[in-house]
Amino acid sequence: MKRCLGTTAKGERCKIVLKHEAYCKYHRNQQAGPNGKAGYVYIFTLKHLIEFSPKKQTWLRQADPNSENQINFAQTSAFDPKRHILIKVGYTTQRVRRRLSQWRERCKQDFQLITPETIDRVVSSNRDKLADLMERLKSLSLRSYKKYDYNEQAFKASNAFRSEQLVHAQLGSLFGSGRLYCDGCKTANSGVHKEWFLVPRKDVRNIMRMIDRLVE
Ligand SMILES: [Zn+2]
Ligand SMILES: [Zn+2]
Repeated sequence: MKRCLGTTAKGERCKIVLKHEAYCKYHRNQQAGPNGKAGYVYIFTLKHLIEFSPKKQTWLRQADPNSENQINFAQTSAFDPKRHILIKVGYTTQRVRRRLSQWRERCKQDFQLITPETIDRVVSSNRDKLADLMERLKSLSLRSYKKYDYNEQAFKASNAFRSEQLVHAQLGSLFGSGRLYCDGCKTANSGVHKEWFLVPRKDVRNIMRMIDRLVE
C-alpha cells in the first residue's frame, strides 16, 4: 500500500492509498511526471554491502520507526548485512555512470550498481544460497533481461521517471519503506533519504526481474 504520488489542486500530496498503482484515477494524468523522457532505471547499493561476506559497519545503523524526525543513537543498532541489503532504485535521463557519481559526491558514499554481473555477490549467507540457486534454475529459460542495457548497466525506459515511480510503488508495497539519515549530505540538505529499501538478499534477483517487467 502506498499513497498516490499525485498533487492535489491545493498543491498538497494526494491522500488516496493505492494497492499497486503509483497514481489514483484523479491524478493519473500527472504520471508523466516532471519529464516524460526516455532514460534509464538503475539499482544500486553501498559498496561494502556487495562485497563477499559483508561485515557490520558501526556507522550504518538501524532504528525502529519513530514519529518524530529524531534518532536516539543509543536506541540504534549496527545494521546486520548478512541476509539483508539496502537498495535504491533511481532514474536518469543522462548517462547512468554520471548520475551515480553525482550521488557518490552528494552523499559521500561509495555506491555500486547492482548488475547481472554483481548480483551473484548479493547472496552471501549459505542459508540463502539454496533459495538463490532455485531462483537461478527457474530463470534459466529467461536468461536475459528484456530491457537491460549492458553498456549503461541499467534498464532502458521510454519514460524513465514513470518507470522509476512504478518500481518504487511496487517495492514499497512489498517491503515497506523507511527513512535513511545520511551524514554525508546532512549539511547540503536535510540528509533524509526516503527511497531506500531494506530487502532480503535472496529476493534481489527477483527484484531485478520485476524491474525488467515494470519499466516502460
Ligand atoms: Zn491522487
Ligand atoms: Zn545522502
